[in-house]
Amino acid sequence: MHLVTGGAGFIGSHLVDALVERGDEVRILDNFSSGRESFISHHEGNDSVQVFRGDLLDPLIVSESMIGVEMVHHLAANPDIRLGTEITDTDLKQGTICTYNVLEAMRVNGVKKISFASSSAIYGEAELMPTPESYGPVVPISLYGASKIASEALITAWVGTFGACGYIHRFANIVGPRGTHGVIFDFIHKLKRDPTKLEVLGDGNQEKSYMSAHDCVRSMLHVIDLSEDGWSLFNLGTGDTCSVSRIAEIVIEESGLKGVGIEYTGGKRGWAGDVPKTYLDVEKLLDTGFVPTSMSELAIRETASALIDEIGL
Ligand code: NAD
Repeated sequence: MHLVTGGAGFIGSHLVDALVERGDEVRILDNFSSGRESFISHHEGNDSVQVFRGDLLDPLIVSESMIGVEMVHHLAANPDIRLGTEITDTDLKQGTICTYNVLEAMRVNGVKKISFASSSAIYGEAELMPTPESYGPVVPISLYGASKIASEALITAWVGTFGACGYIHRFANIVGPRGTHGVIFDFIHKLKRDPTKLEVLGDGNQEKSYMSAHDCVRSMLHVIDLSEDGWSLFNLGTGDTCSVSRIAEIVIEESGLKGVGIEYTGGKRGWAGDVPKTYLDVEKLLDTGFVPTSMSELAIRETASALIDEIGL
């Protein structure tokens, strides 16, 4: 049995699909704060998928959800970096404390393996680009990034102290169908409100690595299969980047709208805590034989098309 925290969310629901497809039994633990019933409703009636509706801040439900579990995929978290600037304990609670609750429930229930959704946000404004896993010291500049590096440290501490096995995945920006946040999602909603103009936060030169949710889930399962004990750490991305202004162009192209004016709010970052450039070094992943099916631009284009269908214009 695999427990997926945040399994009703964007990436989590794609992971649930992949686990079910390869024949695993799956339990989803989600409070549906940003997760949606519709992302997992196609598993209704399938006995190999159980849904526990509950909050990771409740240690009792977390412990109950561990019974019979062989491995935990911990994806539940606050997905919105900007929220951390408004309600400053969001990432502490939804990130660090929830990870502690998961690890402690694992220890008490004898569950040994954890796969964790970390982020390129832990690197902050890295001086080395592309940034390999060995880069340090890491200096996150968002409260979200701080909660991810704190969670990573808790996992390695549990590995060192209690003999757990940890797989830490530092994701690029993940995009794809069922996306409920992020730049492509925001652009489509802006165009829906006003099809004549598109406001871009910052100067548009922000540049980041993107990966499709499909490749993200494939690469997570790929690296988990590589080792059986200790802890492992991989950047998961495609090895290239795309600028925000190029994303704006792609979304407009996919929308089919004509004469849309792009307006930049200016400044090198979109919001406080936004890292203007992230570029993940994924040589370690590629050296294991993993081949992404789409690079950043294609993943963005396919996502824009899928989300325009989902959201409507
Ligand atoms: P998401 O918001 O779609 O998924 C998070 C899920 O966790 C949601 O289903 C939500 O309802 C659930 N959740 C949140 N808090 C919870 C709580 N206290 N108890 C129970 N459930 C809770 O976001 P996502 O984009 O799918 O992100 C999944 C993971 O990947 C997160 O940990 C995120 O930080 C990480 N990540 C995402 C990206 C990205 O680009 N999307 C990049 C780097 C890392």
